[in-house]
Amino acid sequence: MKRVAILIATLMSLGFLTTIVIAWTLAIRTDVSGAPRLNPRTGLGMLGYYSPGDSVAWVFTSVQYSGVFELSAANRGHQQELTVDRMVDEGEVPAWSTMRRGDPTAATNAFYIEQGFGWPSLAMAQRYRYTRDASGSQQLDVNALHLPPDLRRFGPGEYVPIRLIWKGAAINSALFGWIYFCLLAFPGIVVRARRARRGRCWSCGYDLRATPRGKCPECGSAIGTSG
Ligand SMILES: [Zn+2]
Repeated sequence: MKRVAILIATLMSLGFLTTIVIAWTLAIRTDVSGAPRLNPRTGLGMLGYYSPGDSVAWVFTSVQYSGVFELSAANRGHQQELTVDRMVDEGEVPAWSTMRRGDPTAATNAFYIEQGFGWPSLAMAQRYRYTRDASGSQQLDVNALHLPPDLRRFGPGEYVPIRLIWKGAAINSALFGWIYFCLLAFPGIVVRARRARRGRCWSCGYDLRATPRGKCPECGSAIGTSG
């Protein structure tokens, strides 16, 4: 029983590590300048969202491709009316986005680029926040791990996410843990199937051709079952 618990914990840990490695690899391979930009003049391609929690209106646009979800959003303060193509419901805004979670600094008229990474589910997220100070110069704040220069030769991404998207991370960890279990168990399944085919005990390999039925005289395993 204790061995089973240790095995499950080990497989889940390996699955979780794999989840992080995949999310970070996707982040390193993704250029933040490729994120869709808002067009504040025409409003083309823009969606609107009104966050009832903190009474903030947002305009945003998003794009999703394999393992990556990118969106750019602008905080329009407390306006109820936005010039957008369409107002969306809460369900169309990712739960990990600042639009849903709120910005703890309550910055207004800030511009955000948010990225979610992970495969098959999005598992980690990071956010770039651009604001202007009193003198009008742009400030950038990123809630992610800034990679040292040595690690920036593998792709255009300069940051890797440190925030987990819990649901996606749990799904990916369980999936990869299960794959590792199958890889570990597969050699044993092959050996047992081969023993059974050759008329030997699946468990210990004892020759059962002289033993018509019942239990293996060597180890006591039931004959004719496997696994
Ligand atoms: Zn046996």
